[in-house]
Amino acid sequence: MSDCIFCKIIDGSIPSTKVYEDDHVLAFMDVSPLTKGHTLLIPKQHVKDIFEMPEDVARNLYAVAPKIAGAIKSAFNPVGMNTLNNNGAFAGQTVFHYHLHFIPRYDETDGLKMKWETKQSEFTFDVLGTVAEKIKENLNA
Ligand SMILES: [Zn+2]
Repeated sequence: MSDCIFCKIIDGSIPSTKVYEDDHVLAFMDVSPLTKGHTLLIPKQHVKDIFEMPEDVARNLYAVAPKIAGAIKSAFNPVGMNTLNNNGAFAGQTVFHYHLHFIPRYDETDGLKMKWETKQSEFTFDVLGTVAEKIKENLNA
């Protein structure tokens, strides 16, 4: 896609600091890193988000994910790592070419804050069953 910054990184018209590349994926340093080692893994095929990702693209991308995570861990010995991706602007996606973040964690001041306000009392086991059924009905939709 001609106006996509990540497609331009893939074709080399925008420079990047690559850490891994094969026929299907590219991993490179996030230029706005939260922590040392913050890396992005992207498919070479332009895919907007998880909802548009074909199975073969997912297979090739996620097959490499443990290798990237392991290399970051070996390099910097973080105390933990978040792997996450954002789908849609509301969820924080700013580049609309699927990317999986690898964010090694060092301490509570390292720049990533997530606050999970769970709603366990609202979602009883019966409600969860209803929710699960709705998702199951849509697996092949
Ligand atoms: Zn793209």
